[in-house]
Amino acid sequence: MDTDEFRLRGKEMIDYIADYLTNISQRRVTPEVEPGYLRPMLPKNAPDESESWNDIMKDVEIAIMPGITHWQHPRFHAYFPAGNSYPSILGEMLSAGLGIVGFSWAASPACTELETIMLDWLGRMMALPRVFLPFDINRDYKDSDDETNSDTDYELSDVDNDDDVSDVAVKDELIINGKKNRHKGGGVLLGSASECVLVAMLCARAKKIASKRLTDPLIEDGQVLSKLVAYTSKLAHSCVEKAGLIAVIKVRQLYVDEHYSLRGKVLEESIRVDKEKGLIPFFVSGTLGTTSCCSYDNLEEIGEICRREQLWFHVDGAYAGSAFICEEFRYLMKGIQYADSFNTNPNKWLLMNFDCSCFWVRDKFALINAMSVDPLYLQHKHAQKAVDYRHWGVALSRRFRALKLWFTIRSYGVTGLRHYVREHCRLAKVFEVLIRKDNRFEIIGDVTLGLVCFRLIGSNKLSQKLLLSLNDSGKIHMVPSMVKELYIIRFAVCSKYATDDDMRVAFDIIQTHANDVIQEYKA
Ligand code: PLP
Repeated sequence: MDTDEFRLRGKEMIDYIADYLTNISQRRVTPEVEPGYLRPMLPKNAPDESESWNDIMKDVEIAIMPGITHWQHPRFHAYFPAGNSYPSILGEMLSAGLGIVGFSWAASPACTELETIMLDWLGRMMALPRVFLPFDINRDYKDSDDETNSDTDYELSDVDNDDDVSDVAVKDELIINGKKNRHKGGGVLLGSASECVLVAMLCARAKKIASKRLTDPLIEDGQVLSKLVAYTSKLAHSCVEKAGLIAVIKVRQLYVDEHYSLRGKVLEESIRVDKEKGLIPFFVSGTLGTTSCCSYDNLEEIGEICRREQLWFHVDGAYAGSAFICEEFRYLMKGIQYADSFNTNPNKWLLMNFDCSCFWVRDKFALINAMSVDPLYLQHKHAQKAVDYRHWGVALSRRFRALKLWFTIRSYGVTGLRHYVREHCRLAKVFEVLIRKDNRFEIIGDVTLGLVCFRLIGSNKLSQKLLLSLNDSGKIHMVPSMVKELYIIRFAVCSKYATDDDMRVAFDIIQTHANDVIQEYKA
C-alpha cells in the first residue's frame, strides 16, 4: 500500500467505522458461530502475493463480522462497558501512525511527559489524594490550594505505612518555602487492571522481602516468599487470585458482609490466624465496585489495619473509579487515603478505547525498586531527571496511550465526561424501577452506579434458564455472577448513546423471556 492508497483507504475506513457504529442496532448482539468457525473460511497458508484492499475488506464482512460480539450495541449489557469514542479512536490512530515505542523518556519525550500529565489530570478529576499525583514544581509550589482537591476531606499525607526501605528519592527532594518536600507519588498507564494488581503485589512483595532483610540480613528471598500472605474478598476480581498464582503468593479470599463489603474484623481475624502460624501478611487488595455486584469494601477499616500491620493496601476501582470524577459519588471512596496504590480503567467507563488502565502509587520508588533493570542500551543522559516508565511495569515497550486520553478529555471536557457517567447512573435507576415493578424479580445489592443485579425469585436454576434463553435469542447480552450462593444476572448500562427507551426495550425482552421460562418451569 503506497501513501496515496493509504490516504484513500484510511478515509474509507473512517466511513466504515462510522457506518458500523451508526447502524449497529440492526445486528444481532452476539454471533451465532461455533468454535473453529473461521478456519475453514480462510486459506491454510498466508498468501505469497499481495492481495487487493477491496478483497481484504470484503473478507472482513464475510468472515470477521459474523464472529463479532457487538460490544457497542445498545442491547449489550454484559460485563462492564467497553469504552469507545471518536476522539479516542483518533488518538489510537495517531498513536499507530507515529509508530513510536515509549519505554523511556529519551525513547520519545512527549510520550512520557503527556502520560505523566494525563495521570495528573485524571487523578485531579477524580480528586484522588494528592500523595498519588506526580510532583509538579509549578503547580505544587504556586497553587497549594488547588480547587480540584479542595472539596475532599481525605487528604491524609500524614498516613505513611512506609517501612522506608525504598526511600532513595534524592532526585525528587526539593526545598519549597524552606521546607523539605520529598514527593513520591505518581501514576502510569498499564495494559489492564489485572496488570495493575499484579504490579502492586510484586512491589509489595519486594518491599516486604527487603524490610525483612533489614532485621535479618542473611534471610533468603525464598524463606520470606513461602510465608507471604495476601488478602482480598470473595467478590474481588479473579485477577487478584491470578496475581497470586504468578507471584507465587497465598491469597486468602475473605467473606463479605450483608452489603457484599469486606470489613476490617474479618481481615483482622484472618491476619491474626496467619501470624499465629508464622506466616507474613503483606498485601491487601480492596475493591471499589466489585465485578460481581458493584459493591464496595470498607477502605477505612481495612486501611487502618494495613497501616498498623504494615501491609501494602491496593485499591482496585477498575470500573467504579471513573465515577469519582462526579463529586456525588466520591463518598464511595471513603478511606482511599490509606491506599498505597489505586487503579482504574478509563477504557471501561470513560470513553477511552482499550487499553487504558491507570495505576497510581504513593511511593513510586517502591515500584521502581521492584521493577528496575538497567542495561546499557536503555540508559540515557536524562535518566536522573526524567521519568522512565519502563521501570513502572512489566513491559519494556509501551504504546502512546496518553494521546487518546488527551484527545478525549479535551474533546468532551470534564463536564461532558461527568454528564456521560451521570447519564449511565440515571439509566440504571430507570431499569431498577422497571425490575422492581415486576414482583417475580428481586434486586440484589444496591444500585449505586451503572450496574443493576437482579434475579427471578426462586431457585438459581430459574434465573440461569432465563439468562440462557435471553443470550441464545441474540437480542440482548448479559452475564451472570454468584454472590453468597445466589445466581444473579448483571445488567450493565454500556452503550454510549443509551436512552430511557433502551431500558424499556431491554426490560420488555427480559419480561417476555421470563414469561416463557416460568411457564416452562411450571409445566
Ligand atoms: N477489577 C475489576 C473490579 C474488574 O471489574 C475487572 C474487569 O472487569 C478487572 C479488575 C480486570 O480488568 P482487566 O480486564 O483490565 O484486567
